Amino acid sequence: MMTNLQRPLPQPTDITQPYWSAAAKGQLVYQHCPDCQHWQFYPRAFCVRCGSDAIQWGEASGEGVIYTFTINRRAANAFMKTRLPYAVAMVQTSEGVKTMANIVNADLDSLYIGMPVRVVFEQINDDLALPQFQPA
Ligand SMILES: [Zn+2]
Repeated sequence: MMTNLQRPLPQPTDITQPYWSAAAKGQLVYQHCPDCQHWQFYPRAFCVRCGSDAIQWGEASGEGVIYTFTINRRAANAFMKTRLPYAVAMVQTSEGVKTMANIVNADLDSLYIGMPVRVVFEQINDDLALPQFQPA
């Protein structure tokens, strides 16, 4: 018997589409405010610091550190059961934004808060890639 493991995937909206389109091409972008120089993630229609609606997209460095993390040994869904155990982390990027991702290509026992990490793209299909992080 074949089991179809459906992976929950992002459903881009008008506001988040630029993020996902860039990721599909191997680029990490976050919103940047030209009025107050604030970087923000997740995407919104305006700058959360100064309220400007002149918010733009800018390429991020892809560098950051693990802000906090957990090792999942019980999967959140059937697909992720095939990946156990796996790390879920909040990464603080050098732009100052925090983003949730898996830490991949890593010895899970070696992870620590403050560990330098770098973005890597998990290609799902031609239109979608998931920004993940790995030890830098
Ligand atoms: Zn601003």
